Amino acid sequence: MKIAVASGKGGTGKSMVAANLAYTLSLAEPVTLVDCDVEEPNLHLFFPGPAESTDVTIPVPVFDTAACDLCGKCGEFCQFGAITVLRDRVLFFPELCHSCGGCLLVCPKGAITESPVRIGTVSVSIPLPSLILVTGLLDTGSPLAVPVIGAAKARAATHPLVFYDSSPGTACPVIETLDGSDFCVLVTESTPFGLHDLELAADVVAGMGIPAGVVINRSDGEDEATLDFCAEHDLEVMMTVPFDREFAAIQNQGCLLCREHPEWQERFRALYSGCRHLAGVSP
Ligand code: SF4
Ligand code: SF4
Repeated sequence: MKIAVASGKGGTGKSMVAANLAYTLSLAEPVTLVDCDVEEPNLHLFFPGPAESTDVTIPVPVFDTAACDLCGKCGEFCQFGAITVLRDRVLFFPELCHSCGGCLLVCPKGAITESPVRIGTVSVSIPLPSLILVTGLLDTGSPLAVPVIGAAKARAATHPLVFYDSSPGTACPVIETLDGSDFCVLVTESTPFGLHDLELAADVVAGMGIPAGVVINRSDGEDEATLDFCAEHDLEVMMTVPFDREFAAIQNQGCLLCREHPEWQERFRALYSGCRHLAGVSP
């Protein structure tokens, strides 16, 4: 089963939920946790340890100046502005290239080949006996988060129970993370901003046809607006974590709520059972 943990807004406690779910479930069965927040992965802070890292590359065009007749077709084709054909040379801007391969196809002279360039890494560690942590990390300056997320997810493709920790928001990296998920846990907090972003995130998962439920984090007990929204949109509120300075301190120290307070393990196990139930997976 693949469960994504997402939020429309950063700082809601999404990684806290993903980390505690993975930790608690791994006490009883093998779990893989994939950090898909590749611009700012942070799950390794909860689960430190040695990791094996491999590069993620994409193919980008290489131009054969001897074969090129400067016809301009590649520059006209590239929708990303990565190629400009001047009167005496071709300018290529690799940071704009999305590796679509189209320029190779339109070049009438066969003057374009491809060469791999690194855009990030995927690291794999085993911080606990039954927990595998896969971390995608986008290289600084690279705009292509999606292929790194895809590479990180691919490392866990055949694993039986996988949690994806998404980046916040509703942009392409979130879509890539959610793709193929059986269920999505939407983490929010009961503020006007939190509710606004929950609405956006709920729209995305509904549009993708992924069943979802909600965790309210840092609740001050005044959750009526969020509860009303969830009721109106048939979203079950699966767990509420109260605002607590000690909980915040635990997280800030890179510790896990369910390790420091084992009584919370039962609630995270119940959250997982709820995910299976709402996803239509037999208990
Ligand atoms: S591979 Fe695609 S995005 Fe990259 S330069 Fe060629 S046409 Fe543009
Ligand atoms: S399409 Fe090929 S031949 Fe034409 S400018 Fe581009 S690389 Fe040169």
